[in-house]
Amino acid sequence: MEKNLTNSKKFSLMIVDDSGTNLTAMDAILNPDYQIYTADSGELALKLIPEKLPDLVLLDLIMPGMDGFQVLKKLKKNPNTRRIPVIFITGSGNETDEEQGFALGAVDYIRKPFNNELVKARIKTHIEILEQLRANEQLVLTDPLTGIANRRNFDERFMMEWRRAIREKTAISFLMMDLDKFKSYNDTYGHPQGDALLKTAAKVFEAKMRRPGDFAARLGGEEFGIILPNTTLEAALTIAEDVRAGIEALYIPTFDESKITSTTISIGVVSKIPVKGDRIEDFITRADKNLYAAKDGGRNRVCHTN
Ligand code: GH3
Ligand code: MG
Ligand code: MG
Repeated sequence: MEKNLTNSKKFSLMIVDDSGTNLTAMDAILNPDYQIYTADSGELALKLIPEKLPDLVLLDLIMPGMDGFQVLKKLKKNPNTRRIPVIFITGSGNETDEEQGFALGAVDYIRKPFNNELVKARIKTHIEILEQLRANEQLVLTDPLTGIANRRNFDERFMMEWRRAIREKTAISFLMMDLDKFKSYNDTYGHPQGDALLKTAAKVFEAKMRRPGDFAARLGGEEFGIILPNTTLEAALTIAEDVRAGIEALYIPTFDESKITSTTISIGVVSKIPVKGDRIEDFITRADKNLYAAKDGGRNRVCHTN
C-alpha cells in the first residue's frame, strides 16, 4: 500500500488556504505521495473541486472572502462533491472552530502550525478508509459471477438515467434480455458450465456497447439488461441485433429435447423520451412484454412492438 501510494500517486488532494506560505509547506509535505491541487481562496476552491474531483480536501477554515465553513456547506450541497472527505485546517486549539467544522461534516482536522509527520499520518489514514469504502462499494454493486453490475446497481443507475432523460428531454432505451433454453444448457453440461456461459454472455454484452454511458447488468439468473442513455429506438435496435448475433456467433451447442441447438438470446427493446410523471416501472414492463413476445415468436430475436 505504502509503496503503491508513493509510486503511482493514485490519489489526489486539493489544498485550500489563503496563505501562500501554508500552501507551499503543505505541498512540500504531500507532493511526494499525492497529486496536489491548490486553491488560495474559497471561491477558487468551489470552482476547482467539482472540476478536479480530488479524493480528499484540506480546507483552511479562516480565510478572507468565502471562509472554510461556507465552502464546506456548499460542497455538502452538491451531489458530486458531497462525499469527498474534507479535513479542515485550524489555528492551534480553536475548539469552537473545530466543533463547527465537524458539525458541518468534516472528517478530521489539522492544527497550524503543521507537524509534518502528523499531517502525513492523518491523510494516509483517511486515504486508506477511502480505499476500503470504495472496495466495499464495488462489492455491493457488482455481480460476483460475471463481474458486471448487479440488480441493485442497475436499479440506481436506471433511475438516475431516467431522471436525466426527463430533464434533458432525450431518448432513453432499454434492452431486456434472457438466454434461451438455458435450463437445457444447464441440464446438458451441468451448473458450473452454465455459470461459465453466463460469464461469456456478459463479455459479449460489454463488447457490443458503444458509449461510455451504456450500462449492462445482470438482473438475476440468466436475465440481463442494458441501459442506453441518449439513444433512439433505431440505434437501440442496432445494438440489440448486434448482441443477439454476438451470442449466436458463439456457436455454443446444447441439447434441447434431444435435438442439438445453438445457444441464443431473446431481447425486448423499449425507447422513450420520458416526461415528468412517466413511470420507469411501466417502461420496464413494456420491455418485459417485448422480451416475452420475442420468446413467443420463436426466441433468438429482437422485439420492440409494445
Ligand atoms: P427460455 O428460453 O424460456 O428463457 O427458457 P430457459 O430454460 O432459459 O428459462 P427457465 O427460466 O426455464 O430456466 C432458467 C434456468 O437458469 C434455470 C436455472 O437453473 C438457471 N439458472 C439461473 N441462475 C443460474 C446461475 O447462476 N447459474 C446457472 N448455471 N444456472 C442458472
Ligand atoms: Mg431463459
Ligand atoms: Mg429466465
